Amino acid sequence: MNKKRILLKVTGEILIDKKTALLCDKGVRFIAQQIKYLSETHYFGIVIGGGNFFRGSKHGTKLGITPSVGDQIGMLATMMNGLIIKDLFEQEGVSASLFCAVPAPEVGAPISQQTIKTALDKGNCLIFSGGTGNPFFTTDTTAILRGLQIEAQEVWKGTHIDGIYTADPRKDVHAQLLKHVTYQEALKSELRIMDATAFALAKEHHLKIRVFDIFKENSLVYAATHEDFGSTVE
Ligand code: UDP
Repeated sequence: MNKKRILLKVTGEILIDKKTALLCDKGVRFIAQQIKYLSETHYFGIVIGGGNFFRGSKHGTKLGITPSVGDQIGMLATMMNGLIIKDLFEQEGVSASLFCAVPAPEVGAPISQQTIKTALDKGNCLIFSGGTGNPFFTTDTTAILRGLQIEAQEVWKGTHIDGIYTADPRKDVHAQLLKHVTYQEALKSELRIMDATAFALAKEHHLKIRVFDIFKENSLVYAATHEDFGSTVE
């Protein structure tokens, strides 16, 4: 059977306990368990964010440091998360290969079609860290880029919200859920679910995006088995 290939983008906040604001392994272990459960039908590549440690636009700006330096620190944050995730995945019985867009051979493998193919042939889950390796990009754009590189059928953006809304539902009670959005609509409107670079790249290559609440129990299993789970951009 041909397995479906998915690129999952996970925010670094998956590693934060909402109550204590401290690092926490629970969310990552749940993801690993679901990936293991779906391993007969799905291959996963993961792009991990770094927002639990450092975001260039937020923390870097606050410190008053040069934007590109802030972004480099953000990329290093995603690499720390990559190491955490790989270790926890393997503890949960999910074989994983860690890739690093910023050269750091002791941390992860360089990203090329050969290294990706080798990991896929082994049946490993691919964990991509270091973003695109360049400042002024986001891990959302990275997710589309890596999705294209692994020839994913869909990019899943796991976030805090259960889909795409006309406004932030945490701030606006009139915000409406949009189940299906075109790339054009996503680009035109201020749907801040992903940045315009990410949408533009997905549009150019017709890569479908699914947005859902990754903090919901069994969200990956739902996304894999329910076509109408979350919102889609295509
Ligand atoms: N980043 C970057 N280039 C990239 C990807 C990420 O410079 O290609 C930096 C950027 O500063 C970003 C930080 O890495 O704020 C962490 O990523 P992100 O904010 O996307 O993490 P998330 O919110 O998903 O946890």
